[in-house]
Amino acid sequence: MARGLPPFVNEPYRDFHQPQHRAAMDDALAAARSQCGRVYDLLIAGRAQQGEGTFASLNPSRPTEIVGVHQRGTVEQARQAVEAAYSYFPTWSATPVERRIELLIAAAGLLRQRKSEFNAWLILEAGKNWPEAEADTCEAIDFCEYYARLMERHSQPEALVQLPGEHGAMRYLPLGAGVVIPPWNFPLAILAGMTVAALVCGNTVVIKPSSDTPTIAAKFVQLLLDAGFPAECFAFLTGSGAAIGDALVSHPNTRFVSFTGSRDVGLHINQLAAQHVKGQIWIKRVVAEMGGKDAIIVDAEAEDLDAAVAGVAASAYGFQGQKCSACSRAIVDASLYDAFLQKLQARVEQLRVGPAEEFGFDMGPVINQRARNTILDYIAVGKTEGRLVTGGGCPPGDGYFLQPAVIADIEATARIFQEEIFGPVLAVTKARHFEHALALANDSEYGLTGAVYTKNPAKIAAAKERFFVGNLYINRKCTGAMVGAHPFGGFNMSGTDSKAGGPDYLLQFLQAKSIAERIA
Ligand code: NAD
Repeated sequence: MARGLPPFVNEPYRDFHQPQHRAAMDDALAAARSQCGRVYDLLIAGRAQQGEGTFASLNPSRPTEIVGVHQRGTVEQARQAVEAAYSYFPTWSATPVERRIELLIAAAGLLRQRKSEFNAWLILEAGKNWPEAEADTCEAIDFCEYYARLMERHSQPEALVQLPGEHGAMRYLPLGAGVVIPPWNFPLAILAGMTVAALVCGNTVVIKPSSDTPTIAAKFVQLLLDAGFPAECFAFLTGSGAAIGDALVSHPNTRFVSFTGSRDVGLHINQLAAQHVKGQIWIKRVVAEMGGKDAIIVDAEAEDLDAAVAGVAASAYGFQGQKCSACSRAIVDASLYDAFLQKLQARVEQLRVGPAEEFGFDMGPVINQRARNTILDYIAVGKTEGRLVTGGGCPPGDGYFLQPAVIADIEATARIFQEEIFGPVLAVTKARHFEHALALANDSEYGLTGAVYTKNPAKIAAAKERFFVGNLYINRKCTGAMVGAHPFGGFNMSGTDSKAGGPDYLLQFLQAKSIAERIA
């Protein structure tokens, strides 16, 4: 793919059972802790600014601990941020592409050196356990490395058909100033991926992180500065998404919005961006990656029921079920249903829930009290819609912990079958046969990830043909997409299917100019 850079390889994960890696993480956590409570500024036009008051981000494992104090950016500062990004666009887009690629590689290098530090912030601010934090940081490195190589490719346009008497060519141009709005659940990888993709193409951006994870975002912005990016090519704006988000999206200078988050906010942004405002001379481009209600089918011909149970449990409860790709529906053939539930219950009851910073827990807390209340409400609904097999309570402790819940005998009309819960709650549904299972899996407005456990080649072929999801997995879990290997993005209400980490991703942030020159 790349011409100058060596071939892309995914960043390897460290095994924290090894004493040197464990010690590095202990040191990084202690160092991050010593910085907890620090105040961070906005960055607009390359200068630090304060907002109208501040807000704190909390450690969801110990909510009395303040992780970072951040500025409440105002609507006026949102306007300033877009206008500053817009006015720097001619300079940044004229920066040689080789230099922009070099800066991504420099950012990847710094992230690699500072992996443990970034893991520590992910643990403290997002409640990721150590392996989940490592995966998030490695994915951020992968995005920098991968998009750098993709940009090399796009900077060398493919040959066109040449007509007699003409020389024809097509080149890719950046779009302009955009807004990057990431969620809190991959607060480093998704933030980094969306930001560097836009920047390497020559766009400038306003970064508006989630209010649950602004410290990780502030650390990443500082890392970009350390890597050598000019401060003016991005603005960093914290504050309430609802308050400043509309101002960012509706500004006439905003050329594109790169959003990852919930269905409702994505639809709102899409609608707002479609409204023409005075002074706007383009149709805004919206890249919106949204929610999921992902299903795993366990077929009567599953090769190994234990492997299916392990895949479902890992997909449903990894990072407390707070992944857009998480399995929230297990659709199990009637012939295996009871055996599956029995094995799943035994496995889920072994999962250990506790503070994310302590190594060894399978699950940490959910992100905040509001999320925990919403999830508990869904569990209460689920108990009326089916049978609670295990979990669903709150273990002792100050953190926002939840026992992983399995709710069986759920019908397709149930709310917990249809609505994204975004927590450790799995609905289990009985299928009469494989075609019924496939119909159940497709009975959703979402279409992000899905998996099938079967050894029957005809059923595998049918799933490839008719399981309507952006990311399909066969005989493996439905989470853990790897950059370059599993281009990621969903169908229907799961979003615009931009396929992050895939070969076409950068085209969302580019526009093609076709040039035909008459020759003698
Ligand atoms: P969210 O929609 O609540 O927030 C996402 C971002 O939008 C945050 O930065 C928030 O501050 C901002 N925001 C809120 N209101 C806004 C407005 N009016 N204008 C502009 N920005 C606004 O989502 P979340 O709770 O942060 O993340 C969880 C959701 O993200 C889940 O639905 C999950 O499935 C989804 N998600 C999807 C993918 C994917 O690739 N499809 C990946 C990760 C998460």
